Parts: sequence; C-alpha cells; structure tokens
Amino acid sequence: MSDYQIETKCIHSGWNPKSGEPRQLPVYQSTTFKYDTSEEMGKLFDLEADGYFYTRLQNPTNDAVAAKIADLEGGVAATLTSSGQAANFYAVFNICEAGDHVICASAIYGGTFNLLGVTLKKLGIACTFINVDDDAETLAKAFRPNTKAVLAETISNPALVVLDIEKLAALAHAHGVPLIVDNTFATPVNCRPFEWGADIVTHSTTKYMDGHATQVGGAIVDSGNFDWEAYGDKYHGLTTPDESYHGITYTKRFGKKAYITKAVSQLMRDLGSIPSPMNCFLLNLGLETLPLRVERHCYNAQKVAEYLDAHEKVAHVNFAGLPNDKYHELAKKYMPKGTCGVISFELKGGRAAAVRFMDSLRLASIVTHVADAKTCVLHPASHTHRQMNDEQLAAAGVSPGLIRLSVGIEHADDIIADLAQALEKA
Ligand SMILES: *Cc1c(COP(=O)(O)O)cnc(C)c1O
Repeated sequence: MSDYQIETKCIHSGWNPKSGEPRQLPVYQSTTFKYDTSEEMGKLFDLEADGYFYTRLQNPTNDAVAAKIADLEGGVAATLTSSGQAANFYAVFNICEAGDHVICASAIYGGTFNLLGVTLKKLGIACTFINVDDDAETLAKAFRPNTKAVLAETISNPALVVLDIEKLAALAHAHGVPLIVDNTFATPVNCRPFEWGADIVTHSTTKYMDGHATQVGGAIVDSGNFDWEAYGDKYHGLTTPDESYHGITYTKRFGKKAYITKAVSQLMRDLGSIPSPMNCFLLNLGLETLPLRVERHCYNAQKVAEYLDAHEKVAHVNFAGLPNDKYHELAKKYMPKGTCGVISFELKGGRAAAVRFMDSLRLASIVTHVADAKTCVLHPASHTHRQMNDEQLAAAGVSPGLIRLSVGIEHADDIIADLAQALEKA
C-alpha cells in the first residue's frame, strides 16, 4: 500500500480480502487457533512456521490494524497495545532495564510524566525531564553514558508545545540513542515523525485514531532505521541471544523488525497488555475516516482559536495555528496541513473563572478525554494533572487557570455560540 496517499491507506491498508472473503475486516474474537496435527503446532513454537496460536501474542484482526498504522506512519512494523500508557511503557522498557536512564520532554501527557518519573524509577530506570525548547548545547547536558532513549510528543498534551523533531533526533543520534515520538495529537495525517528522523512512534489510539470515544488503545511503530547493532552493548536485549525465546538474537533473525518482534514476543508475552480484537475492529473503523475528521478538527479549531484570541475575557490562547503563537513557525514546518483540534487557553479571571466557564457549557462536555468527534473540555490542574505540584505544573506548561478545549467536528458556529454564552457567565 506504500505508494498510495494517506486517505487511501486509511481505508485499504492492512486488510486485503481474497476472493469471497469479507470486505470489512472480520473480528477474530477467539483466544486461540486450531491445528490438525501436533507437529504443525510444534513448528509454530519452534518458529519454523508462521501462524497464529494465542491472541496474547498475535491475532489476525489486531495484526491487520497494526499493519495499517505502520503503513500510515511509514514504518516497517507495529504492534497494538491495550492503552496508550502501555504503548509508551513498552516502547521504553523494550530497550531499558534497571540501571538505565531516559530523557523525556517535561511538557508531556500527565500519565507519561508519572510513568517515567515515578513508576519506571521504581524499576530502577532514571529519567531526566528536559525543556525541548532549550538549545542543543543545553539539552546535550542531559545525556549520560547509560541513556537509552529520548521521548517527546509531536504536539504536547495539554501544553501544545510543538516539537522540533529534527533538532531532537540529531541530538539523540549524536549520543547513539533513538528518539521515540508520541504522535497522538498530530496523527500521521498531519505529521509523520519518521520523515524528520524519529526512530520509534507511539500513539494513544484512544484519541483521534479512534475518534469516537469507543475504545482505549495504543500503538508502537518502528521506522526500522535505528542501528541497534552499532551500539550492540547498549541494546544487548536486541543484539544478544534471548534465552527465554529460543536463544534468538532479534537483530540477526528479524533485521529491521527486531524491535517490534521483541516487544511482542517478550513484553507482550510476559506483561500481556493486548487490546481485544473487538477494540481493534472499532479502532479500524475510526481510522477509515481519520483524514476527513482531522481536516475538520483543524478547520474548526482554527476558527475557535481566532474567536477566543479576540475575546476580552481571554488572557491568552495556545494554538500553533495562530500567527502569534510561539510554535507557529515550527508547526508550519512540521505540520503544514494543520496541527490538531486541541486548544488551550487561560481566562483573565484565572481558576475561578475557568470553573464557572466550564460549568456553563451546554454543547461541549466536561470529560477526561480529548481528540474526539464531540467537543470536550477539561481543566488540567484539577483533573489530569492534579497530582502535580505547582513547580511540576509550570514545567509541564500547565497554569492553574488553563482550560483544555478539544474542538470536535460539529459545526464551528455552534461550538463558538456555546463558548460565547459560557464566557458571558465566566
Ligand atoms: C491519552 C494520551 C496517552 C495515554 O493514552 P491512554 O490510551 O489513555 O492510555 C499518551 N500520550 C498522549 C499524548 C495522550 O494524549
């Protein structure tokens, strides 16, 4: 499918029915797969034959959707996980162990901040949080001999920092480390980080990819470009035999697919965060219309951002589509078609006004969700980021009065009318 445009890939990649087979991707809602002889099944375990045997490792529905997402990002392989959290965890843990160190953007999703700053620390993996806007010289100081990965978001949730992917990729590569980019907000429709030097892409497919708030899911995609063997000692999990998996050396046996194969055959096998086939089916329906929806999200968000920016009660608006936004130039370079439908803004009346405003909305709903067909709103300081102290909030780009507005695909005039009546009461 790789010669087609992204709109076509969203419809057709991953599932090519043969004559007489279902046109739509079937839901293989089965834990297991049947074989006629014991020997046939034995060959699967010995890796002598390809085939399905247990859904924790592989399932045809899940694999078709993973292949579609790999194609959308321009990667060589992908795997789906039961959540975006699991995707980021696996993406890092696949190449890190106790005693290692990772570098992560401080303006990042609250869940990722906790994962790296708290939970991975308990597993012996240290993390340094960086301000990705700093110059390369300052950022270089964060690297240590045991640094194994750099992680950042294309457009950060909720601060909407646009990543200079080329700058960070060059820096990571100069230190022999891959760059992992969480591309949830931009989606491959607006940005494909591999084209700018990122090595691994992750997604919370819960967001735009699904788009209808029907399933929680994640994805990890490998570009196949990082040369693990060039730093063999550092990435010994990929470059030396895995005794728990037939003594296979992933890079030797699977080449460019080594990283994803290891994530599936080791992490999925042992930790088991698989999505259900039904959820993958729902995700696939969302993917079919992703380019249409993303285009409308961006169109509506631009209108809403311009409206808010001109409103007397609004202190400031973060949206890279606004010419006065700090990230406008970076967005033009990396996302010329638009960024995403998420806007954040601050009311002059601060936290109290933010709460009054939110409680007065009629069309937009207060939900812990974002990047959905329905316009929704959230107050990060009292919701997603409430476990952070003021200093951590500031580093994450979240002020106490910040409102995160996820502009849906309703008619822009209706969304703006709702905001207008709520702002009157704020
Ligand atoms: C939501 C989100 C996550 C976590 O994904 P879940 O599917 O909720 O586990 C990770 N990264 C970003 C950028 C997100 O928006």
